Amino acid sequence: MSRPRHLPDSAPMPPLLPASPPSGMSRRQWLRASSLVLSLGLSELAWGATIVAVRIWPAPEYSRVTIESDGALTAKHTFVANPPRLAVDLEGIELNPALRELVAKVKADDPFISGIRVGQYAPGVVRLVIDLKQPALPQVFSLPPVAAYQHRLVFDLYPTVEVDPLEALIAERLQDNKAGAAAPRPLPAPAVVAGAPAAPPAPAAPAGDPLGELIAQRQPHRPGAATPAPAPAPAGGSAAVGGPALRPSPALSPGHPTPPPPSASATAPAAPPAPAGGGTPAQGQGITDRLIIIALDPGHGGEDPGATGPAGTREKDVVLSIAHRLRERINRTTVNGSPMRAYMTRDADFFVPLHVRVDKARRVQADLFVSIHADAFITPTARGASVFALSQSGASSSAARWMADKENKADQVGGLNVRVQDVTVQRALLDMSTTAQINDSLKLGSALLNEIGSVGRLHKPKVEQAGFAVLKAPDIPSVLVETAFISNPEEEARLRSPEYQDQLADAVMRGIQRYFSRNPPLARNRST
Ligand SMILES: [Zn+2]
Repeated sequence: MSRPRHLPDSAPMPPLLPASPPSGMSRRQWLRASSLVLSLGLSELAWGATIVAVRIWPAPEYSRVTIESDGALTAKHTFVANPPRLAVDLEGIELNPALRELVAKVKADDPFISGIRVGQYAPGVVRLVIDLKQPALPQVFSLPPVAAYQHRLVFDLYPTVEVDPLEALIAERLQDNKAGAAAPRPLPAPAVVAGAPAAPPAPAAPAGDPLGELIAQRQPHRPGAATPAPAPAPAGGSAAVGGPALRPSPALSPGHPTPPPPSASATAPAAPPAPAGGGTPAQGQGITDRLIIIALDPGHGGEDPGATGPAGTREKDVVLSIAHRLRERINRTTVNGSPMRAYMTRDADFFVPLHVRVDKARRVQADLFVSIHADAFITPTARGASVFALSQSGASSSAARWMADKENKADQVGGLNVRVQDVTVQRALLDMSTTAQINDSLKLGSALLNEIGSVGRLHKPKVEQAGFAVLKAPDIPSVLVETAFISNPEEEARLRSPEYQDQLADAVMRGIQRYFSRNPPLARNRST
């Protein structure tokens, strides 16, 4: 995309100076002086820190820049609105090749970052300018050493208008419908809403089916269509979903500072289901007349690689690949005639905090939550798949507790900004009973185990339970599938193979169908 811009002279910050040591000192002398200071053990001198690595994690939700160093860095940052950029003064370091690498690491398709410039601004002060493609809300925070990481300084760049998980799901579905509609029967004019019988501009979905509603509202946005639908109702708490205590409000705010988006759950008029393009015929009076949403949660991501196999396979990569395969299957499957839709809590290599994963699933009112992992154990001989559900009272085995503790550390490794962690969400989750959820999760888990056992070895023949943070949505049956032990060389090899990934995805798909055959999804539109 665009090349990094240079600061205009009028920019409210000093221009970048070329990378150079302090005046009168050669670079070599400067380095020698720095290392001398280190060797003297004066680590409290701010400029003792050395950059060991730099990383950029672009994603539609936010882009992250990480600077890892062997000592804590001090940073002052200023956001400049026009053109949008984040200027950061890193104190106590000298410009080095590792920092310069940042410049080349910006990807052209990074949704937020257009370029990065670095320069030695003053002795012991490096200035970093992150040029942005759009206005952003920056979060700058540091993380203490954890796992394989030393000190990390993190810059997260969030959009000023938050990505709404429902909107994202709708956009994807409309895209698919468009593609699906185009292939079998090309439409003569775009003004026709595919599949919609003559109807008012915004055919509404049943109340309580936020996806259906929003799809219905988005349809008229097509070129040539009628006036845009009104915006969804503002977040209205839990009004629409109180009913049989199955679907409390999804309007929980995520772990970053943007306000929660309007929730669509409150006030839509009851009406036929949204036909949603050409792909899905409207369902009649079946058990349910809405989309069945399966939240797929590929574990780890970004700074958190998860477990790493002996051959170097990273958990975060294989589980994303398995989730993609499972998504394909889900998206072409129906339950009692109702189409299913997969919603991915992450669809790229970036860090998503555990509570945000839960929150996202709740905001799309997922029917099921399936977290996918492939972890390591202390011994390479451990093998076989396991399925876990939440436990309210102690773990079902010490191994299950060990696994939950390990998974719950993902936030530390991945890099959670604890200052903005949404305590309200955490508290809300803690306060709700999960007894019914756990019962359903155990049923779901058994169905999955049964099917997974037909394609691979099982570690334990029954669903285990422990306090996994990511399984805590009180209203969504939630399981965590450890597909295999990546620490076992044989299983690592299988996990890498596309054939086995397909088999696993098939098995989980069959397990989900098996679960629904005995526990049909409930209709969301209940009369109150
Ligand atoms: Zn894991």
